This record gives sequence, C-alpha cells and structure tokens, in this order.
Amino acid sequence: TGCVFKNMFLLLILYTEFWGKIAKEFYWKTPYTGNFMDYNFDLTRAKIYIRCMQGATTNMCYNVLDRNVNEKKLGDKIAFYWEGNKPEDYARITYKELLQQVCKFANVLRAQGIKKGDHVAIYMPMIIELIVAMLACARVGAVHSIVFAGFSAEALSERILDCSCSLLITADGFYRGDKFIKLKEITDEALKLHGEKYVFFTAGRVLEFSTFKCSNTGLCMLQIPWNEEVDVWWHEVMKEAGEECEPEWCSAEDPLFILYTSGSTGKPKGVKHTIGGYLLYTATTFKYVFDYQPSDVYWCTADVGWITGHSYLTYGPLANGATSVLFEGVPTYPDVSRFWEIIDKYLVTKFYTAPTAIRLLMKYGDEPVKRFSRKSLKILGTVGEPINPEAWLWYYNVVGDRRCPIMDTYWQTETTLPFFSVVPAILSESGEELEGEAEGYLVFKKPWPSIMREVYGSYERFESSYFKRFPGYFVTGDGCKRDKDGYYWITGRIDDMLNISGHLLSTAEVESAIMEHLAVAEVAAVSHPHPVKGESLYCFVTLKDGHEFTDELVTELKNQVRKKIGPIAAPDYIQIAAQLPKTRSGKIMRRLLRKIARNERDLGNTSTLADESVLEALFKNRVETI
Ligand code: ATP
Ligand code: MG
Repeated sequence: TGCVFKNMFLLLILYTEFWGKIAKEFYWKTPYTGNFMDYNFDLTRAKIYIRCMQGATTNMCYNVLDRNVNEKKLGDKIAFYWEGNKPEDYARITYKELLQQVCKFANVLRAQGIKKGDHVAIYMPMIIELIVAMLACARVGAVHSIVFAGFSAEALSERILDCSCSLLITADGFYRGDKFIKLKEITDEALKLHGEKYVFFTAGRVLEFSTFKCSNTGLCMLQIPWNEEVDVWWHEVMKEAGEECEPEWCSAEDPLFILYTSGSTGKPKGVKHTIGGYLLYTATTFKYVFDYQPSDVYWCTADVGWITGHSYLTYGPLANGATSVLFEGVPTYPDVSRFWEIIDKYLVTKFYTAPTAIRLLMKYGDEPVKRFSRKSLKILGTVGEPINPEAWLWYYNVVGDRRCPIMDTYWQTETTLPFFSVVPAILSESGEELEGEAEGYLVFKKPWPSIMREVYGSYERFESSYFKRFPGYFVTGDGCKRDKDGYYWITGRIDDMLNISGHLLSTAEVESAIMEHLAVAEVAAVSHPHPVKGESLYCFVTLKDGHEFTDELVTELKNQVRKKIGPIAAPDYIQIAAQLPKTRSGKIMRRLLRKIARNERDLGNTSTLADESVLEALFKNRVETI
C-alpha cells in the first residue's frame, strides 16, 4: 500500500507541475490556491463536482487577445481570413483590429446593462461579428450561449428559455449556398414563442430583450421586421462605443459558456464550461494535436455553434496567436471544389473537417479535388462521428495526397479532447475494467481541466447522464475497442449497439462493411426486434449518382457483410434512403431510424434534425418486417 500511495502522490505532483507550467504561459490576475484539480466522480460518496485552479482570477478575452497584442507583439498578425459564401466576398482581421472591435462591443454590452454572470444568446452566421460578440461576452464576464444559425425559431426559443438569456445578438440574414436565411424573422418568431412561455411559467415577470443586429447582408432596413422598443442596430451602437475596455476579472471556475449538445441521442443538454481549465486545455490540445507552428494557416470547417467551433476555431487557435480561416458557406457552393479552392487561396496548412463532409464530397469523385494543388497541406483532422475506412482512405489518398497524417479527434461537447491527463478505461457490462485487447463502454476515470462542470439547470440530469451507470467514472455513452497496440477505436454510441443472438455488434462495423461497396455513398444500420435472434439489423443506404437500387444490389450488400464480418451480422432488411436524417451538425440520427424501421410515428425530440422532410420519404420506402 505504501508503494501505491507513493506512486499516486508522485503522479499528483507531476500532474500539477505539468499543468502549472502551461498555466504560466497565460495571464492570471491572482494565482490559484490549493489543489490544481479538485473533484468527486463517485456519486455513492457525495455530490459530483469538478473544479480546476480554484482561487485564481483571470479573463479569457484578455488571454486570447490583449496578451497576444501586448506581450507577444502579434497585433499585426492576421487572426482570421474571412471567406464569405460567395468566393468574391472575403475580408481579413488582425489581432489588433479584433481586440479593438471586441473592446467596443464589450462597452456596448455594458451600456446595455450586461454584467458578469448574465447569459447572452448569440444566433449569428459565420461572420467576424460572431467572434467579436462571443469574445466581448467573455471580456465582460457574461456567459455566451451560441445557437447555430441553422436552427429553427422553436429550437432557438427553447435554448433561450432553458438558460434564461437576457439578451440576444443576431444578424439580419445570410446566404448559405443559394438559400437565403432570414435570421431576424426567425429571431422574432422565437421571441414570440419565448415571451408566451416565459410569462406563463413565471407568473407575469417579463424579461426584456434587446436585439442587436449586425447588418451583414446590407439589406434595406425597411425589409426587416423592426421593433424600435427592443431592436438596436449593431453598426449604430458600435459607432459611439469607446475603444478602452477594462476586462472583468473572473474566477477560474466562473462559467465561460453554455452550449447545447447535438441531440443525437435525445433532448440536447446545456453543457456548462468554465474559464481557467477550458483556456488551458483548448490551447494545449490545439497546439499539440495539430502541431501548431506560428506560420500555419489553420482551417476548421465546423460552425462556431458547435463545440468544435468554440474550441478549435475560436479559443484554441486564438490562445496560440494562430491565423485561421473562417468560412461562411457550404462545401458544395458554387461547386463541389470549394474546400480545395479555399485551401489553395489561403495556403491552408492544417485542415480540420467532419466525416459527413468527407462522405459528401467523396460522392463526386477525385476530379473536383485534383483540380487544385493542395500543396500547402500538412495535417488533416476529422471529428464528430466515427470515420469509416472508405472515407478515411479517400481523405488520406486523395485530399492529402498520401502526405498528410490524419488526426482523428474523438470528443464530446462535454469533454473536449482525451489527451494529456485524460485517463480512459473500457468497462464490461457489469462494470469491470477490461485490460488489453477489449471492447465495451468508454469511460474516464479522472477529470481534466476542461471537462464539463454541469448540465445547466439540472444536477439530476448531469448525474444520471454521466455518472449513474458506473459510479466512480464519467460515462461517455460511446462504445470502444482497444487494439493490441493500445489504440482506442470508437465503435459508435452504446444506444446504437446491437445484440444479435447473443453477439454484441457495433453499427460502425456493419456500416463500414457496406460502405466498401462501390454503389454506396452513405449507410446507417440500426437494430430491429427479432422474435428468434432478439435483434436483427435494418440498414438504410444512400447510393452514389448513377447507381440503381435493385434486388441484386441488396443481395450483394448482404453478402458483403457476411463475408467481411460473418453471417451473424448480415442485415435482414435493407432500404433505400434518398437522404439520412441528420442533426444540424451533420451526425446521423439513428434513434429516428430505429423508429422508422419499426414504423413508429412518435419520434421524440426532433428539434436538432436538419431537415424534417427526409422522414416522410423514409417511412414511404420502409421494408416490411416480421
Ligand atoms: P447528444 O449528447 O445530445 O446526443 P451528441 O453526443 O451528438 O449529442 P456532441 O457532443 O456534439 O453531441 O458529440 C459527441 C459525440 O460525437 C461523441 O459522444 C461520439 O459519439 C461522437 N464523436 C465525436 N467525435 C468522434 C470521433 N472522432 N470518432 C467517433 N465518434 C465521435
Ligand atoms: Mg453526447
């Protein structure tokens, strides 16, 4: 026992020393007192809590902007190359200019009565003002809650209500491809919904909303619904705002933002992150995972409305003084070469995107990629879903010309990257830790600086979502396999796992086998009850252009799984899907597909579904089941 204690003590010292050194690179108004990390993961002992660097005071905005401009002398370095929806629309902003804009907007926020701890909703397209708005919140100590600008009025209203925002920042509208999105109209609709609900729930206490608008599209003001009492134009208030703005000094454990999860598995959870640990961790993961070099031009294609956009488009790169591309449009507009064109335009060195985008672009073959040189690329990244071998190989061979390593970064809104200080384990059904080559539940044994702190508004949900299934661990909800070399392979969500005649199968495995067929562009496999086997497989396939869905193809696909995995995994049913239901962050929503396979119309929470209209076609093309 003595030896174990000594080792644990040594580890604790190393851990504290390691993060202490990294913390020294940032600015702390006052240092932390006590332990670097303090936590309880075991709900059978006490309430769950996680704290990092308690007692320290700092400001996020100061660290990512003032520190770079004043101490690091990076004022003239480009923070963002902004690339608009149309290739002719572009701009750039330096660190000094960004700091100046942020200070002005922080003063505007203060003038509107926003103070430390207030919640501010941001519903904006991918424009520089979005970054300005979020950093201005951080500067005055307000908590931002960013809602992806593709969400509906109802989804926006739900989020505003759930975290009691006292101000909403939006834009008049924007183009996504050739589709015009009337943001201000959606906003008004959301506030109407919100108003009614709010009055109803709080017996008459009405929150006053102001709506800032940044005139992005240059539309005539008259075309936009306008309420003089609450609506304020961004450009008007910015004109009068001062450029000096003292940051609000906050505690390291004060909240930085609340962000809702993608809702792949159920109602989205409002995940709360705090300042100190999140700063250290996003800065460090960005630096090492992407091997950041000062001369890099880094491009993360995620929307700022997702955790990837928060951590690896905004806070992580800015904390390192990096230059990034901020892209407003979509990968297929004006044509399917747009990504590669942008890479050549800005000489992007590090490129980070999602499997859904890779699968989409892969459909069009190699030619649109090869039209551009992509010579500047050094490292590729992927995030969001398991990446199937087909997509990985195309990304590696075609996009990266077999030169660029691919960083597959697994994480969640709750966790950010498993990295230094992350201690994963794989548990069996009964909660035993499995050693060596193994497959089971992915859990984490200890917190790290940027792990989530709570589900906003519900300790109950925090505890039951992450800590109840296996007391003493943070439970990710994902399945995982450890190979003989010790690498971890995410096999998909636990909810998506199947048990066929006593064999545990992951959807990722079956889907990868089907994806290898030439005709298949995308596939999702779900479980369907079976009277004998317990469960059977029901698959939805989207075909590449020029391929037909025939009985022969169905047989070929079934045989392919039989050959690759074994007869046990051969799907009982395969149906055609013109499109798969996806979250607005591009993830396949298998829980809806399970319902469709069973012909159940009660689909549960669909607020994060990107396109409702895909459901009807899927119900129509259902295959009769036993
Ligand atoms: P909800 O929690 O509301 O159901 P969500 O889990 O999709 O939504 P996010 O936090 O955005 O919301 O996504 C995290 C999940 O995405 C992970 O739990 C995992 O299932 C999946 N994921 C993310 N990155 C990867 C990756 N590189 N490989 C495999 N899976 C990934
Ligand atoms: Mg999740």
